[in-house]
Order: sequence, then C-alpha cells, then structure tokens
Amino acid sequence: MAKQKKNSIINFKTIWLPTLLLVTIILGALFNYVWKDVLPFNFALIPLVIGGAKVIIDALEATIKKRKITAGMLVVLALIGTTYVGEYLSGAIVCFMMVFGEVLEDITMLKTKNAVSELVKLVPMKCRKLIDGQFQLVSIKQVRKGDTIQVQAGEKIAVDGKIIKGQAAINEAAITGESMPVDKKSGDSVFVGTLNENGVIEIETEKLGGETVLGKIIKTVKDAQDNKGNAQKIADKFSEFFLPVILIICAIVWFATGELIRVMSVLVIACPCALVLATPTVVIAAVGNAAKKGVLIKGGDAIEGAAKITTICFDKTGTITKGTPQVVSTHIMKGVNEAEYYKTIAMVEKNSSHPIGKAIMKNISNQSRVDVKSIPNAEFEMLFGRGVKATYNNSVYEVSNKKCLEDIKNVPEEIKQYIAKEESKGRTTMVVVENGNIIGGIAVADTIRDNIKETMHQFKEIGIKHVVMLTGDNEYTAKAICEEAGITEFRANLLPEDKLSAIKEFQEKGEKVAMVGDGVNDAPALVLSDIGIAMGAAGTDVAIESSSITLMSDRIDMLPATFALCKKSYFMIKQNIIVFAVCVNIAGVLLSGLGFLSPIAAALVHNASSIFVVLNSSRMLSYKYKGSEKRRSNYDEEGIPCVH
Ligand code: ADP
Ligand code: MG
Repeated sequence: MAKQKKNSIINFKTIWLPTLLLVTIILGALFNYVWKDVLPFNFALIPLVIGGAKVIIDALEATIKKRKITAGMLVVLALIGTTYVGEYLSGAIVCFMMVFGEVLEDITMLKTKNAVSELVKLVPMKCRKLIDGQFQLVSIKQVRKGDTIQVQAGEKIAVDGKIIKGQAAINEAAITGESMPVDKKSGDSVFVGTLNENGVIEIETEKLGGETVLGKIIKTVKDAQDNKGNAQKIADKFSEFFLPVILIICAIVWFATGELIRVMSVLVIACPCALVLATPTVVIAAVGNAAKKGVLIKGGDAIEGAAKITTICFDKTGTITKGTPQVVSTHIMKGVNEAEYYKTIAMVEKNSSHPIGKAIMKNISNQSRVDVKSIPNAEFEMLFGRGVKATYNNSVYEVSNKKCLEDIKNVPEEIKQYIAKEESKGRTTMVVVENGNIIGGIAVADTIRDNIKETMHQFKEIGIKHVVMLTGDNEYTAKAICEEAGITEFRANLLPEDKLSAIKEFQEKGEKVAMVGDGVNDAPALVLSDIGIAMGAAGTDVAIESSSITLMSDRIDMLPATFALCKKSYFMIKQNIIVFAVCVNIAGVLLSGLGFLSPIAAALVHNASSIFVVLNSSRMLSYKYKGSEKRRSNYDEEGIPCVH
C-alpha cells in the first residue's frame, strides 16, 4: 500500500524486507520446481508468512487509523484466499510486490518532497553573536530576540532582523526567487536564508525559527503539500463505494466460475493505490517547483482554483505600478504660506502606510521643506479609496483625491484646472483641505512594472478571458496606466468595498476570479475572490495568510508561469485519476474476472500503475512554462531586460 513516510531513504531499513522476500521466494521456487521433495514442508510458506505479516499489519494499522475498512484489506483477503487454495508461492510474490512497490514509491516520493528539506537547509546552523563586545561563533539555538549578530561577505543570514551597521548587497533568491542582489543598509530588513554577497553587516535579531519569513514559507509549503484539493476528495469518496462494489464483483465471479484464483486476482488489482497517490504526488511536486521560484501555492485547492480562473483582477498601486510614486507637482493656493502648507501635508501623511503617503513624506523630507521631526502628532484617520485625514487642535485637515471635492461648496476654478491638467497626464492628484478650505494640490506619478505588456499578453495566451484593473484612482489616470500596460478593461474611482462588488459581479456572471494585490489594504478582496494572489510578501505576514498564492517577490511577470503550472498540474491530476487509476482498475478487474490475469500478474499491473502515477507526477517538479522561457531570453546574463 502507498504510504507517505518521512525521511525514508535507500538504506538497510527500507531495503531489508524486500530483499529477504526476494531471496526466500527464489529459494521457494527452486524447492517447488527443481529440488522437489527435498524439504518436508513448502519453503514458499516462509516468504508468505513474513510478507503476509507485513501486509496484514499495514492494512490493520490503516484501518484502525481511519476507523474504516481500507482498500489494503482487499489484499489481505486475497492472501487469505491464496493460502486457502494452497498457492503459497503466488501469495508470497504478491506480498513481495506490495512491499517492494511501497519502497519504490517512497524513493520516488522523496525526490518530490525534498522542496521542504532544501528550504530547511537554507537556515544556517551557526552565526556570529555579539557577546561581551566580541563576535563569537555560536549555534543558532543560542541566539535570542534582540541579540546582535554579524554576517560577513559570502555568509548566509541566520535571523530575520534589521541592519544596524554596515551595508551589503543581499541575494534574496532563496526567498523571492529573484537572483539580482538588493543593496541594503542600516535600517533595512533582512531575512533568514538570504546571502550577504559583499559587505559586513550587523543585524539586530527580530525573529527566529518558525516566526521568520523562511519559517513561514517552510510551514506553508509543508501544509500545502498535505492539502489534497477537491479532485482528491471526490476520489476518496469513490474509494468508499469501491470496496463493497469489488466484494460484490468477487462474489459474482466466484459463483459464475467457481475459480477462487480469479477472485484473488480481482482483489489484488482492485486495491486503489494509484487513486490514493494520484493527487498528492502532483500537488507535492508542483508546490515544490513553485516554492523554488519564490511562489507559494497553498496546496491542491489553490492549484485547482487557479487552473479554473477565467478573470484576473489587479489592484493598481504596487501591483501594476511599482508602488513607488514620485511627487511630480504641487500647487499652492494664493495667500497660503509655503512652509505651513508642507507642514500640513506632512502632519496628515505622517502615519500613512499607503505608497502615496510615503512618496509625499519622502519628497517633503528630501527637499528639507519641513523639519519632519518637528511635525506634531495629530489624530490620524484613513479614508479608504479617498485619502487621509488628521485632526489637530480642533482643526481638521485632509489630503484626498477628487472625492473630497463633493464636501466642499465653492471649489475654486484654479484647483479644478490643476486637477484636470495633471489627470490628463495620467497622474494621481490630491487636494489639501484645511477646515473645509482648499489650500492646494499635490500630484504623484507612478511607473508601471517592467514587462507588464508581455505579462498581460501571456495571460491571454494561457486562456484567461478577462484581465481587469480595479483602482481607487480616477478614470484618466487609470486609462493612461492601462494603455501603457496593455490592459483593456478597468474600473476606476472604486472604494475598497466597490472592489469587492466588482469581484462579486464577475463571479455572478459565472467567472472564476483571481485577485492580485499587495495583501495589505486589499486583504478582503483577496479573500473574497476565488484565488487571492498577494505579491511582494517577503515583508508582510498578512499577505501570506490571506492569499491562496503568494509571490514572495514583486515579480508580477512570474504569474502567467504560475497559472500555467497550476493548469498543467490539474490536468495531470485528472490524467492520473482517470487513466492510471480508474481505467487501469476497471480493465484489470474485468481481465481478472475473465481469467486473463493471474494474481501475480495482477500485483504487477497494480504496482506498475502506482509507480507510473508517481513518475508521471514527478515531472511537475521540473515543469517550465514555455512562454516564460521565451521571456527569459529577453534578459541578458545579469538579468537586465534587453531592448527589443
Ligand atoms: P489603488 O491601489 O487602486 O490606487 P487605493 O484604494 O489604495 O487604490 O487608493 C485610492 C486613492 O485614494 C488613491 O489613488 C489616492 O487618490 C487616494 N489615497 C489613498 N491613500 C492616500 C494617501 N495616503 N494620501 C492621499 N491620497 C490617498
Ligand atoms: Mg492599493
């Protein structure tokens, strides 16, 4: 029977039993046919008893664990039958096939399962910890939160934390799949398993072990590999009906032919091992394949869901665009003091985590327009899909998009023109309001991500019908961005709840919807959609939790390949179930019933189908989407896109 054992390798423990059985079976055959009547007993009883014990114990174990009669009992019945009719050698060979088949499966499975062990290997066992003013090499177990550790060039980082001294180029490929090193300096976050390529850095430890990003990835991949998905649930249901049906068939065969040996063959071939293996093997291979590229797929359900997607919705900021907007213009109303103006904006945006807020703060501090440290702490409120608001000393301030104009009576012509001019250039424009009076405007522009056009084209290529951008921004900016990105459908001026209704609307039309976002302010949309995809998740825990598929990097161009992988995997699952499990089983039962298959031949076919399933599935380990290969050829050796 197929069992997924942990950590089994080709060693004495796994190989002794099949070897012993094989040797005793050969001896048994010799005593049966060559050295007849030498022994006072049938030597084939030895392998039959040893192998039979193993098969019976396994079947009983499974039955007790699942609290129901499992398919393994079919083989037990067959063994009892063969023993009863005195076919000891046949029974022994069936036992050997079962035991040997399981070892073969384990070995092949292990190859597929090692995605997790490869990830675990990324965690360094030792690191240099600051003890009494000196860095000493200690075991990672001796490091605690708050400890300072030093990482030299060429070493892997052992903790999640912040750089407090030094700078270095960090290769984060282990986590994000992106091999271009990222320059990091004091204040930047670093992660376990990433590689310091050149400098010497000191890190303050924030997270260890299972709490780290890598720890979460390992847990997600492990859980994902155990999530079988719907197809398997149907298969499991099927195998419940299977048992009584097979027993009835056996009864019919016995009554019709009176040949117990045919019944034995039916019992052996009917055992649905291939069916049990059909899905998990594909899921394990596909999840492992994706994990190596920095894509977390949460198991069978996610694979199945992604394979059926017909519509993909994208958030704009940080998803289609790089999410690092720049302030491109400001407009200060007459009579407003410039320093006061920037101080107001800074006070409102200070606590905003939105990319726009960050861009504005960066611009203000870079231009030294205001001493950012002197900005008072106002009461802060986020206005989703609109902007931000702050209350300080009984005054109300707001930095928001056009929507706030609805609350203002006499909107000056001057600001209307400013907004119209900026929006026509595809820029996101906000107005600054103090106690209901507009004191100015500010516009930011974001750049779209690399390779977006090609990516959108690939979605069409793999059969996604609609690619839609959902944005809280205005329709002019949305249109400009979509034109540049090659997206034909968009919805603008959406509040977060409007994004939810847009997704619902598509779903009501019968579309299967995927939502791609950064996972921070669009978590509800990720959860509501059929498949939520969060990107750039290396920094945020929420993103990994609220999505079905997580891109650790922000390489949106990894997505078409991910969908292609899921589609192919789902196809393979169906192929495994239908071709290798159901068809082989039905044909086998028929042939056995008709007397064309001996119990030994039945055991052979039965095991062959299981091993075929495992081998077939392991192909998903190395599956590559052709389109993405073509795209990769557009990069030079250093990973920089070539002009074409
Ligand atoms: P999207 O991600 O599609 O741009 P959001 O809901 O995140 O949509 O934002 C919608 C709009 O709300 C932005 O385009 C911007 O006009 C406004 N907005 C959001 N956050 C801020 C902020 N911190 N400051 C000013 N305006 C903001
Ligand atoms: Mg957003």
